[in-house]
Amino acid sequence: MRKDQIYLHNYINGTLRKPADDQWIDVIDPSRNETFAYVARSQKEDIEDAISSAKDAFEGWADLGATKRSAIMMKIAELIDERSEILVAAESLDNGKPIKLARHVDIPRASANIRFFANAVLQFHGAQYPMDDGSINYTVHDPLGVVSCISPWNLPLYLFTWKIAPAIAAGNTVVAKPSEVTPYTAYLFSQICIDAGLPPGVLNIVHGYGHEVGEPMTTHPDVKAISFTGSTMTGGIIAQNAAKHFKKISLEMGGKNPNIIFADCDYDEMLKTTLNSSFSNQGEICLCGSRILVEQSIYDRFISDFVGKTKKMKVGPPTDGDTRVGAIVSELHYNKILSYIALAKEEGGTIEVGGQAPKMPEPYHNGFFIEPTIITGLTHECRTNQEEIFGPVVTVQAFSSEEEALALANDSKYGLSATVWTENIHRAHRFSRKLESGIVWVNTWLKRDLRTPFGGIKQSGVGREGGMDALHFFTEVKNICIQIR
Ligand code: NAD
Repeated sequence: MRKDQIYLHNYINGTLRKPADDQWIDVIDPSRNETFAYVARSQKEDIEDAISSAKDAFEGWADLGATKRSAIMMKIAELIDERSEILVAAESLDNGKPIKLARHVDIPRASANIRFFANAVLQFHGAQYPMDDGSINYTVHDPLGVVSCISPWNLPLYLFTWKIAPAIAAGNTVVAKPSEVTPYTAYLFSQICIDAGLPPGVLNIVHGYGHEVGEPMTTHPDVKAISFTGSTMTGGIIAQNAAKHFKKISLEMGGKNPNIIFADCDYDEMLKTTLNSSFSNQGEICLCGSRILVEQSIYDRFISDFVGKTKKMKVGPPTDGDTRVGAIVSELHYNKILSYIALAKEEGGTIEVGGQAPKMPEPYHNGFFIEPTIITGLTHECRTNQEEIFGPVVTVQAFSSEEEALALANDSKYGLSATVWTENIHRAHRFSRKLESGIVWVNTWLKRDLRTPFGGIKQSGVGREGGMDALHFFTEVKNICIQIR
């Protein structure tokens, strides 16, 4: 360890600790391809420590009661707000996202997550079922014990807190792992939890690789439930591991979301929102619409306007206030996206705009930038239209009838979200009900109410997050039946 470098330690039993065998992973600024910090490369021993401190802390935290837990969480939310500019800069540096996005979306949402569940748990209660003979059943929701929360790199603190907040609000203690690709804000969050007075062991953050840290977090017999967000492939491994011990699982996984545009839509609103739903956060949002389906009668007009507006989006350094598309999160992911653009060409696609990796001026000349890319001329069965790319790449296909639009939209192994554009209220309802997807937005995109169930169907997810669904997931319900004499 060198004194002049940033080292991102684990947070175990209320203290910041280096990993047991002092191994570290480079943390890269993707806009420059330069290491700016080192994060703990933890091993099984660190996980054992974290799980045992979570186990020790469980009874005290559960018995503290919802009101006191809620008050500590409110303090955490306050500190996130107080330190928001530090967190904003860290998130943008680590992930490559435009600083503006981190300021308006990621960090405010992290404190909103904590605040929301600190409030929600105060409204969370069981039910009662009186019987004809006067006997009564009532239910109570008990925390599970130690739970694992594992999150990805695209919305680092946003998704990390989205899991941790309901888990600790409900009285569980947590072992959490952010992505090794973007660990910076999770580390800063450890310090916030210490400063807010979160009792030691309630939350333990263990950094490292998925196969070295994530896997033991999911297989350990003392872990009662796993809340995971990430790829469908990793979700599959976790589901198999969890099944051996009958652990509860909540899996939020990949998507290939359709964005269905009917000719009767509010065209200007649709165009503005479609730019965002395609390219926000470099297309690295699981809810981005990557398969755009447009009614034939407006197809040519749409392509011309959409391409025109996309050309004007600034690809650039994340710190520039007018950057719309920042850096791709890592070299690995950058190469994956470029390989899909090459595949689309092989599959007969036409690149209407983008497709290139632009060279930025120094000091960003080695950064991972990809232009927002629109591809047409592909069949819906091809790999480009079936596999998740998770970058600033969308395809556009035309349809001639509602039936055809529905068949194209549903022709996917994924089913996370869908966006529908129409001014016909009958069609809006009819069509939304038939879409095979966990979330449908009509005439909007990414409008979020934290009370609503969030999650996907098919290979996009198992279970729901958000609101009371999350509190149900992180508790076990018990029915108590009293015979009245
Ligand atoms: P990933 O699956 O590679 O990694 C996610 C997390 O799992 C990381 O922390 C990683 O270290 C960990 N992990 C890896 N292998 C593991 C294992 N064997 N056991 C336990 N943990 C393991 O995903 P990613 O590349 O970080 O994220 C991108 C993916 O996340 C995309 O597929 C995207 O669609 C998905 N995503 C889904 C949602 C949603 O809400 N449905 C939201 C955001 C991202």
